[in-house]
This record gives sequence, C-alpha cells and structure tokens, in this order.
Amino acid sequence: LQQQVIQAQKMESVGRLAGGVAHDFNNILSVIIGFTELALGKIDKRDQLHDYLGEVLSAAQRSTTITRQLLAFARRQTIAPKVLDLNNSIEGMLKMLRRLIGEDINLISQPGASIGLVKIDPSQVDQLLANLCINARDAIGGVGRVIIETGHVYLDEDYCATHTGFVPGDYTTLTVTDSGSGMDQETMQHLFEPFFTTKAEGKGTGLGLATVFGIVKQNSGFINVYSELGKGATFRIYLPKHAETVDLVEIKEPRPADARG
Ligand code: ADP
Repeated sequence: LQQQVIQAQKMESVGRLAGGVAHDFNNILSVIIGFTELALGKIDKRDQLHDYLGEVLSAAQRSTTITRQLLAFARRQTIAPKVLDLNNSIEGMLKMLRRLIGEDINLISQPGASIGLVKIDPSQVDQLLANLCINARDAIGGVGRVIIETGHVYLDEDYCATHTGFVPGDYTTLTVTDSGSGMDQETMQHLFEPFFTTKAEGKGTGLGLATVFGIVKQNSGFINVYSELGKGATFRIYLPKHAETVDLVEIKEPRPADARG
C-alpha cells in the first residue's frame, strides 16, 4: 500500500518528536511529583488542600504512564537482531501471553512446519506478540479464542503487483486470529496510525499497532489485516526468511532421494 510509505514517514516523525517530548516531560513530571509529595507531607489530611494536591499527584502519576509508553514507542536505538526460529520464541512467550489475556480466553498455538529462520531482535518478537494479543483480548472482552499460527509463503511477482509495498521473496508468517468484535472499514484505514484508538479513555494509547508497524518495517516485513465487523480479526505479519534458510531450502529441493527414477 502507498499508505504504508506515508505511514512509515509519519511513524518516524512522530517517533522522533515523541522521544524528545517524552524525555523532557518525564523530567518535569518527576519535579511535579516530588514537590507535590513534599507538600502533601506538610498538610493536615483533614485540610481540603490535601485532597486537591492528592488529585495533582495522581494526575501527574498517570502522565508518567503515558510518557513511559511514548518512550518505549520511540526507543529504537539498542536493537540486537538475532537469527531465530519464531516457533521457539512463541513457545517461550505462551505462559506470559496466557497470563496477559486471562483465563476466559483460550489461547491456541499452531506452529507451522519448516517455517525457516528470521533475523530479528527477540524482544521485538515479544512486543509483536504482546501487542497483538492485548488487542485481541480487548476486542473479545469476555470469553473467546485467540490462535497464534506460524507458516511460510513465497510471495511472487503477481502477488506483489497487486499488493503495493510488498516485495517478492520467501517469508515466514506470524498470524494472530481472534474471535473478537472485528472492525469496520473506517477503523481498518486508521489502524496503524499513532494515537488512533477506539478504546475507552485511559484504556488505549493508540500506540500498540503503530509500534507493531514500526517493528515490522524495521525488519523489512509487511502486515495484512483481515476483519469484518462482528467476525473477529486476523493480523498476519510477513518477515523475510533469513538468507541461510533460503539456501537450506534450495539445497534440500534437488535431493537425489526426491528425484524420480
Ligand atoms: P490501542 O490498543 O491503544 O487502542 P492500537 O494501535 O493497538 O491502540 O489499536 C488501535 C485500534 O485498532 C484499537 O483501538 C481498535 O479499534 C483497533 N483494533 C486493534 N486490534 C484489533 C482487533 N484485534 N480487533 C478489533 N479491533 C482492533
């Protein structure tokens, strides 16, 4: 999509801005919090001023939650990509993810066979999984099902001609499907924009999918979203197979045992 390019540019400028602002704000907030706490300690609890200052303190504390999220969103400096098997990464995250989405939701993992290796920072994989699962949980809002699948696909010229932005090649796929509320076309169009959220105030920051998008772009990958209102949602991430994997596949193909005659 042409949109993906614009998206990436938006992401970059927002990221840069957010990082700087969040950093300065954090410092200011810690001054506000520090002095408010000091003042609170000096005022009689029965004084109405104590309540007012209590409100100031809790608002400032809420603000630090937001700046912390902004910083996490803007943080890109220390990534350390490793060649890894996504199935292992998911396996290692399952317990955490189950805790994250709660007992009412059945989390099913369906690891695909010969999905190859990808080169990505392991903590970025964790972030992708966590963000997609949190959204799935919120879209379900009760009892439901989340499926995490992996697979691999070769995207050919034809596919890429009709899917602007996609580049032909071998990809490992990570798919998260939920039985939640799904979304309409309008929502789908703004999904990856920083700060776009339909969640209740205080619940969403609109940075979850912007972060997912940033990570995927940083790793030369792509995302497809399939959803209809009332019919759940599917997010599929395509990550380029690491070169070594492609070689292995190529060596495997013409094995004598596979040849006829
Ligand atoms: P946030 O979770 O803070 O709202 P995100 O960027 O993660 O921010 O998501 C943006 C919006 O995209 C959500 O508010 C929601 O409207 C929509 N969305 C994301 N994932 C799903 C999903 N699995 N099902 C339905 N809607 C979704």
